[in-house]
Amino acid sequence: MTWQNWAGTATATPARRYEPRTAEAIADAVRDAATAGLVVRALGSGHSFTPAAATDGAAIDLSSWTGVVSADVSTGLVTVRSGTTLRDLNTVLDALGLALPNMGDIDAQTVSGAICTGTHGTGAGLGGIATQVEALELVTGDGELLSVSATSHPELLPAARVSIGALGVITTVTLRCVPTFQLAADERPMPVEEVLDRFEEFAADNDHFEFYWFPYGRNALVKRNNRITAPGDSAATPPPMPGWRRFYEYEVMENAAFGALCRTGRAVPSLVRPLGRLAAATLSARSYSAHSHQVFVTPRRVRFVESEYAVPRESVLEVLAELRLAVPRLSQPVMFPVEVRVAAADDAWLSTAHGRDTAYIAIHQYTGMPYAEYFAAFESITGSAGGRPHWGKMHTLDASRLAEVYPRFADFLQVRDQTDPQRRFSNLYLDQVLGR
Ligand SMILES: Cc1cc2nc3c(=O)[nH]c(=O)nc-3n(C[C@H](O)[C@H](O)[C@H](O)COP(=O)(O)OP(=O)(O)OC[C@H]3O[C@@H](n4cnc5c(N)ncnc54)[C@H](O)[C@@H]3O)c2cc1C
Repeated sequence: MTWQNWAGTATATPARRYEPRTAEAIADAVRDAATAGLVVRALGSGHSFTPAAATDGAAIDLSSWTGVVSADVSTGLVTVRSGTTLRDLNTVLDALGLALPNMGDIDAQTVSGAICTGTHGTGAGLGGIATQVEALELVTGDGELLSVSATSHPELLPAARVSIGALGVITTVTLRCVPTFQLAADERPMPVEEVLDRFEEFAADNDHFEFYWFPYGRNALVKRNNRITAPGDSAATPPPMPGWRRFYEYEVMENAAFGALCRTGRAVPSLVRPLGRLAAATLSARSYSAHSHQVFVTPRRVRFVESEYAVPRESVLEVLAELRLAVPRLSQPVMFPVEVRVAAADDAWLSTAHGRDTAYIAIHQYTGMPYAEYFAAFESITGSAGGRPHWGKMHTLDASRLAEVYPRFADFLQVRDQTDPQRRFSNLYLDQVLGR
């Protein structure tokens, strides 16, 4: 059966498909595939834009390997089966009075898919989801189950937290969660020049700051989400957003209306620039409070392609200035806004924020519209700033370039030699980014 990712940018026809329901069955599948001489990839929710999960060998579908194994509310440590989606994890965490400290803007990903590619949200003092990983178990290339934690092979943890699935099939992940919290959300249009001038101030003063720059408009949409530390303080706590308004803002405006705009722009490219100006000019302000993940996550029904680069935070303004010069020169117009986020430095060897405070710049194009020229120009600009591509988003860098921007790249490859000397878990994408 043919497999395809969410964006339609990767397809594959696995020779075999396994749907294990136990950790032993995952190990059996790896051994069985090895006997048949097949390479193996684990399938998450297919939300990577890169062909990271694609295989013509054996696909291990983890959609029946879900749920929480154990949870300790006092420490916040929660062990979860790798195929669990972030959405389902949040439901369980809600009931336990726990939460993920930070998230990206969707929750459809599996826990293992999210950590494998370094999935992140925004927050200058916070890392991506992989920074919350305290332990994990994986099936290595020889079909053995390996525990990695502070007390078992701790030396492998910085490699295993973000692994692009190259070290083995992850069976369980132990995440350090935090007590449940509410966020005060503030989203408002602001002249893009002002946002750029105040970038450092906004990043420092808000728990979660990001903005969307509309390439042909004057305004950016600034999102500032802050933890509500004194829930009784009504001055600091905006009221919840009524259900009808949430539906109107997110379903009607951000999905239905924006989707219609995109379809128009795709059909009549000369309208893209005026439509972009219109979209930026009609942005509206909203403030509300809600449970953390209800603020982090928004429905994304309009399909697109995406590339995202992590650059040292101090170079973000320079990179954006170059991008703003490059976009008007493109022969094909850009339909989608550019998203800018921040994250703290961390120590996972293949984390895009490894060793440096980071700004993420994500560019998108509506599905079916030309993007090659835009993405190439972006890659060249971020390349001069030592940019690191998101492992799950489109890019063309190869192992030799990635070795230059990841100081622990060779150490990661050594761990790969230990856990998968036969390259059981290889595919074309890993050949590109890690070498054969
Ligand atoms: C609409 C949309 C919004 C997004 N928003 C964000 C965002 O806000 N922030 C962000 O950082 N990213 C974002 N992404 C990217 C997305 O978070 C990542 O690509 C993530 O990896 C997808 O998770 P998945 O479960 O779909 O994994 P997949 O794409 O299915 O797999 C990703 C990789 O992990 C491997 N893998 C999965 N499970 C295992 C396992 N158990 N053991 C070993 N390897 C495994 C796969 O083989 C593959 O190499 C977004 C993507 C989309 C489509």
